[in-house]
Amino acid sequence: MRRLRRTKILATLGPASSTREQIAALFHAGADVFRINMSHTAHDKLREFVETIRSIEHELQRPIGILADLQGPKLRVGTFADGPVMLSNGEAFTLDSNPAPGNATRAHLPHPEILAALEPGHRLIIDDGKVVLQAEHCTPKKAVCRVMVGGKVSDRKGVSLPDTELPVSALTEKDRSDLDAALNAGVDWIALSFVQRPEDVAEVKKIARGRAAVMAKIEKPQAVTRLAEIMDLADALMVARGDLGVEMPMAKVPGIQKQITRLARRTGKPVVVATQMLESMITAPVPTRAEVSDVATAVFEGADAIMLSAESAAGQYPVEAVTMMNRIAEEVESDPTYRAVIQNQRAEPEATGADALALAARQIAETLDLSAIVCWTSSGSTALRVARERAKPITIALTPKIATGRRLALLWGVHCVVTQDARDLDDMVSRACRFAFREGFAKPGQRIIVVAGVPLGTPGATNMLRIAFVGSEAVDV
Ligand code: PGA
Ligand code: MN
Repeated sequence: MRRLRRTKILATLGPASSTREQIAALFHAGADVFRINMSHTAHDKLREFVETIRSIEHELQRPIGILADLQGPKLRVGTFADGPVMLSNGEAFTLDSNPAPGNATRAHLPHPEILAALEPGHRLIIDDGKVVLQAEHCTPKKAVCRVMVGGKVSDRKGVSLPDTELPVSALTEKDRSDLDAALNAGVDWIALSFVQRPEDVAEVKKIARGRAAVMAKIEKPQAVTRLAEIMDLADALMVARGDLGVEMPMAKVPGIQKQITRLARRTGKPVVVATQMLESMITAPVPTRAEVSDVATAVFEGADAIMLSAESAAGQYPVEAVTMMNRIAEEVESDPTYRAVIQNQRAEPEATGADALALAARQIAETLDLSAIVCWTSSGSTALRVARERAKPITIALTPKIATGRRLALLWGVHCVVTQDARDLDDMVSRACRFAFREGFAKPGQRIIVVAGVPLGTPGATNMLRIAFVGSEAVDV
């Protein structure tokens, strides 16, 4: 079972994809990592999803990644006494700390820390941009606002505050309990929503203690401002275009997507492009041309993974959506312009042995037209640095740790195989050849390059390159 593309596919699970048959069908169609959205998934369902995916993984003998996505501090207004209210441009509307149901002139904002942080001039965006208020007069108990964009507001609609740095942790009580459940269930990645500061990422990493890797969702302007610092701490990033397009002018999102994907590629952190990629496929069996073009753009940018949300979680055509993403990625990657576009954004190596060897491995592999770069990796860090090169041949990561294989499922161009550690150098090279053959990437007579650290099992010691012939003996085992 191998993919013919380098870009990975992340598919969100939900009611449209919750049976074993449905999840297996998504995997066969091309999903490499599954996302469980904790905003909509109860803990027992989370555990069931994880068990199902693990059983499919066991049956197919391919590591599959699982990402649990924490809801984060999603802010909401309170309820209204007589149903939805209509706000008109220019009217005054007050948000306050009074829990009584709201009316046409006021509503409860059940977040005292937000009222305390609001300042005159700050915008409050309600229901994904349908209504916009601007604070005019603020006290710790209430904010008197002007309606800038009028419209309907109803019970518990979401509120975004693009201008206010919120003095709240990125982890709510619900997130803490979801995080605990996800770690206990054994997920591979945790995604954190509405990250504002590097400290938000640090907090999750501290709780995760290496049991799962941490992905920072970039969906707040505050996070865009501090991108480099957040990227430093996070294990991966997500361009979360849904909320980003609410919190920032929508027309800025494509440029920000490029900034984030470039910086992630430069630092070698995996990056996921998410939201509305094939949105129309929620209800239609074919996407729009614009959606196809959007997916293609992310592939051309060299994103590690492209993501489906409601398309696979709650749509009418989940398998078709994954199949379509797979097709688009395959087509783009075989387009004659693709390599040149990808190479354009390649960053210089950092001054480390791992980066120097990753660069050399890619150059040798491309110069000699080798069939695969095979790297032995325990923590996954060698594979991360090799993936950063965006090499033409496939990268095969051989790892003794299933947890590493699962995490690496998200990485651009990396095909993982779990196998016990090599005994010695000969074993390392001969098994690299055997796996390259067995997994369908090299034929006898072709050559591969092996990247490893010797002595074996020394973390962070990538120091060996070896060109090897795949001989007929590779076929025997
Ligand atoms: P969400 O995150 O689907 O959890 O909101 C993605 C996004 O905002 O784009
Ligand atoms: Mn979001």
